[in-house]
Amino acid sequence: MGNNEALEIDHTDLVIGLQDAIDRLRASSPQMAKAMDAFLPITDTPVEYEKSKREVQARLTEIIHDEKYTNFVAELTAEDSPESRERLAALLSAGKSGGAWLEASPALPYYRLSDEELALALAMRLGVPLIKPCACTQCGQQMDIYGRHAFVNHTCMNGKATNRHKKVNVALAHTFRDAGITVAVETLYESHYERMPESSQPTVDHRIDIHAEGSGDGGLDPVSGAPQLVIDTSVTHAGTHPLAHKIPLAAAKARVAEKLKFIMKHYKVSKDAIIIFVLETHGALGDEAMKLLHRIAEKKGGGKNEVSAQFLRFSLARIGVALQRGNAVILRHWRSACVPTGNRIVM
Ligand SMILES: [Zn+2]
Repeated sequence: MGNNEALEIDHTDLVIGLQDAIDRLRASSPQMAKAMDAFLPITDTPVEYEKSKREVQARLTEIIHDEKYTNFVAELTAEDSPESRERLAALLSAGKSGGAWLEASPALPYYRLSDEELALALAMRLGVPLIKPCACTQCGQQMDIYGRHAFVNHTCMNGKATNRHKKVNVALAHTFRDAGITVAVETLYESHYERMPESSQPTVDHRIDIHAEGSGDGGLDPVSGAPQLVIDTSVTHAGTHPLAHKIPLAAAKARVAEKLKFIMKHYKVSKDAIIIFVLETHGALGDEAMKLLHRIAEKKGGGKNEVSAQFLRFSLARIGVALQRGNAVILRHWRSACVPTGNRIVM
């Protein structure tokens, strides 16, 4: 026994303690018993757990967290108010790759969040009320405490959503360039693609958020035969979709369909060459967006899985931070323009 004496734990105590904990959890509810059975088959010999205490403990923690999450979701679902739906949608969205920004190291400038941006991002992730319930001072609509109004009511928001979109798009463009892929940002559709005969003249210019033009080494995927890629970057609010509180990424999926339809209605672009890169307010990436990042990371890694994995994490964090900054711009404007002074909650 040396200096580590204090850290040593009696094996028997731990195993008995673990077995007690397991029995208690199993008895706590039928759902919990079911969840436990899936992971830890009943055994008469508690000593078996000794073999892999760390693994058992990790599994237990997982089971408890899952159970808590499920109960929490069930509680919110049972309420079925607009606020519970909004919160549930946020929860589902945040659970899907929505925490990537939390892994960003503040060592690099584009990874840094101000104190206010960090406070707002965390408040949204945790579902903390951002205001006391009240009506919007501009349009008179009743607003929920989680800031839905800021993300869905564009007339009151004075174009701030455009700023968020731009931030995310710039972060994505950098991700392409860091992987050695040539891209152009915000070029006109008409300079690359023919207009569909039935498309009417747009009142505003249609611009391609990101156009990946290179082929061969400078391209993303010369094998697929689509050297040119049209990437449409889009941020949507999970709570706007009627099923967002039940189906993760429902809002993102709907946005992908809507954008695809729009582009193909106006321009002669092959469907395979269009990628709708959608993020939800709380950080979840649509499936297409995630696939694209994987492809870029593969290109960057050039066969080295470690490099690809690291680049993917790096890119997810970078885009996530850009999104949170954009969210902060929106929330800041909303609180000063739509929320009466007495109803703002200071962070
Ligand atoms: Zn309003």
